[in-house]
Amino acid sequence: MRIPALFLLLGLLAPVLCLADGSAPASPSTIHLIVSAPSDPAWPERIARHVEETLSVPVIVTVQTGAPSATAAFQCCQSLATEPEPRQLRVCLVFGVTPPSRVEIACEIKPEQQCATVWADGLKPGAQTASPQDAETWLMRVDKQVTYATGRLLGLQPCGFLLCVMHASATLEDVDLKAPNLCPPSREALPSPPAIME
Ligand SMILES: [Zn+2]
Repeated sequence: MRIPALFLLLGLLAPVLCLADGSAPASPSTIHLIVSAPSDPAWPERIARHVEETLSVPVIVTVQTGAPSATAAFQCCQSLATEPEPRQLRVCLVFGVTPPSRVEIACEIKPEQQCATVWADGLKPGAQTASPQDAETWLMRVDKQVTYATGRLLGLQPCGFLLCVMHASATLEDVDLKAPNLCPPSREALPSPPAIME
């Protein structure tokens, strides 16, 4: 695997692109990942562990089963009054609902609400979703975009480095190209792990 070496080389060349914009990172927090009507019951935990490992932040998962609901999806970021203390950043991962047209590459970040929505169906491979390979492609894309959305809520800025998971992908090909992990400058911009894990 040559991607880590690429990260080291190119990461040295482009540190300015990936740093937070001079402001302090968001205060340490827990991520509350709310997964609505997942296509595969194993995915929510897999995705949560990936986000935890990549961003060094604790993630708790709530799975909402039942039929996909567009109404529930749209309300996910608006029901913060029920959030347990201490306050958590919230990422809503929605299956079975077509993303609204304003949403680019399935991610909607709402920093003022400390919430983000990822629309899994906007990342779905087209034709043969039944084949295991396509399911894996889909899961990888969802993993990356949930990580991206979570990173944004933690205060990371979009990264100019194409292979970094914090790159603001413009196309599904971009999502497929980028690695599931942070480049070194983005990793340095994270809130420090000891503070996060308190
Ligand atoms: Zn980066």
